[in-house]
Order: sequence, then C-alpha cells, then structure tokens
Amino acid sequence: MLTIAQEKRRIQAILTSMVDAVVVLDLNGSIILANKAAERLFMAREGQLIGKQMDEISHVQEIIQMISQVLQTGYEVFTETHMRPATQIFRVHVVPVKDQEEQIEGVVAIFHDVTDARNFDQMRSEFVGNVSHELRTPLTSIKGFVETLLDGAAENSTTCRRFLSIIEAETDRLTRMIDDLLSLSSIESKERFINPKPVCIVRSMRNIMNILGPQISEKHLHVEFIYPFTLPRIVADEDLLGQVLINLLDNAIKYTPRNGKIIIRCQRKESRIITTISDTGMGIPRESLPRVFERFYRVDKARSRNQGGTGLGLSIVKHIVESHGGEVFVDSEVGRGSTFGISFLVI
Ligand code: ADP
Repeated sequence: MLTIAQEKRRIQAILTSMVDAVVVLDLNGSIILANKAAERLFMAREGQLIGKQMDEISHVQEIIQMISQVLQTGYEVFTETHMRPATQIFRVHVVPVKDQEEQIEGVVAIFHDVTDARNFDQMRSEFVGNVSHELRTPLTSIKGFVETLLDGAAENSTTCRRFLSIIEAETDRLTRMIDDLLSLSSIESKERFINPKPVCIVRSMRNIMNILGPQISEKHLHVEFIYPFTLPRIVADEDLLGQVLINLLDNAIKYTPRNGKIIIRCQRKESRIITTISDTGMGIPRESLPRVFERFYRVDKARSRNQGGTGLGLSIVKHIVESHGGEVFVDSEVGRGSTFGISFLVI
C-alpha cells in the first residue's frame, strides 16, 4: 500500500514528465494543480498558476467556456483550438473529476500540441493537390492532340509529325516529373541511403559539364570554370551531389539566352567549400527569390513548361544539400542574371 505522501509524489512525477500541459481545477474553477508543461504554455513561473481562474491565465474564450460547461454538466469535451501564439494548435480535452457518489469535484484539462501534425496534414494535402494538377496539365495536352489527330489531322503528314513530337515532349515531361517525384520522396523518406565519401567537387562539376556539353554548345553559351589549384574535399554521396550540380547547371543553361555566359566557381571560405553557378540569364524577381526552392514553384510557368521544366529541380537540390548538412542560397537581378550557390563543410 502506498502512503498518501508516496501517492502524491508519484502523481507529481508523472505530471512533471508529461509533454502535455495538465491543469486541475476545483469546483469553483480555481487551479489546484498544474504541471511544468502547463506553466510553460501559460508562461507562468513555478507555482504561479495555483489559485488562479482560467480567465486569468488565458484569453481563449473557447477553453474558458469548456471548463465551465464541464463543471456544470459533468460531461467530458474535446476541441482543437489555436493558443498563443496563434500559430500553435492544441487539442484540448476537459474531463470531470467525480467523487464516489458521482458528484463533480472539479475538472482536469489536458492540452496536447498538434501543431506539427496539422501542418503536416496541410502540407500533404497541398502536395497531393499540386501533383495532381501538374500531372493533369501534360495529360490534357496529350489528349487534345491525340483527339485532333483522330479527327483527321493524322492525314496531313506534316501536321501529324508536329503533333506527335509535341505528344512526345509532353510524355517526356511526365516521365521527368515522375522521376523527380520519386527521387524527392526517396530522399525525404531516407529510403535512399546516403553513401558519404570524400569527394572532389571540382571533379564532380567537370563530369556534369561533360554531360551537359551538348546543351551548352547548342545554345552557344560561354562557360568559365574557376577553382583554386588545391581544394579540400567534402564528404558527400557522389551520385546525389551529381544530381545537385546537374539541376543547377541545367537551370543556368535553360534560363540563359543563346550566346550568354555561365561562370562556375568553387572556392574555400573558412571551413566551407562554396560552389556558385552564375548566369547572364533572365534573372528572378526579388519577391520570388525566397520561394524558388519550394516544390512546383516557378517564376514563369509557361517558360518553365517550354523548357520542359518540372518545378521540382531546386527543391531536390535543397533537400539533398541540407541532408548533407550543407546550405543553399540564391541571388538574382531581373534582366542581369542569377547566382545559385551551395556550401558544404570541408572534411
Ligand atoms: P523548373 O523545372 O521549372 O526549372 P526548378 O525547381 O529547377 O524548376 O526551378 C524553379 C524555378 O526557378 C524555375 O521555374 C525558374 O522560374 C526559376 N529558376 C531556376 N533557376 C533559374 C535561373 N538560373 N535563372 C532564372 N530563373 C531560374
């Protein structure tokens, strides 16, 4: 048998260790017990909540009303509400405390923070909405051209070839989008294990320049690659690093007009290796800069689509770089060009 003192200590220990905020109120609505999480939530010092009424510590009317409702009716109630700061969402559960004769003695109010879960739900549903919309656009276009071909356009061989090549380009875009979505989800779910090794970023950059060589020459772009004689290596997954560099260089090529210039720089700054890719392209308006790393964000939807863009490249870049403990940054001026950069710690 536990003594009353032991029992009290045990309850105190349980309440203190709880992540949820708990307050117990008596029949008059005065707080008789509150745990540390409750003191944090209502920004009170230790013991300061005791003896207070709910309306003295919170301005959320819904909670004040719930407590008086449970004190009157004896039925438990739930709600989900915004607390201070207004961005925090809490699930509030108020239960009556009854004696052996079922008479109400007071109430217990429990506050469970569901902010992350709700934000995640919202992000997920926005993401599903975006994906469906993005997949629908090329599909609608493919269907339109197929219908026109079936309606007779197929008889004219020039028109037929033109429409078929549009269908091919749209199908390629769908495939790229699905590939990008799959790589995003595998990086996010950590299913794609990072295989970190010391790598020379200059060598990785050279490989990518070779891969994108045809696009560079086709647009007559002048590319300069500037790097010091010796540069420490970084720890990275070589394939993922390649994906970052290819996305950044591919954008610089896509969004720079013919005969433009691209300057790639690798340099050491204190304990970091900074790689920047600057172009003399169209640039990005200042207000769009904070958003370019978001999924599906494009400054100019039509232009991105013309270039076969998926709107996912930079979000993949950000994910990969951050999963390596690195950082991404961008600076740009409309009409003059953009500089995208990544930085990693040296070994
Ligand atoms: P996309 O497949 O559309 O290129 P990204 O995620 O790679 O998607 O880029 C998002 C948007 O950022 C692009 O649609 C484009 O508007 C802008 N952007 C990216 N890189 C550049 C660049 N080098 N110059 C100008 N705009 C760029």
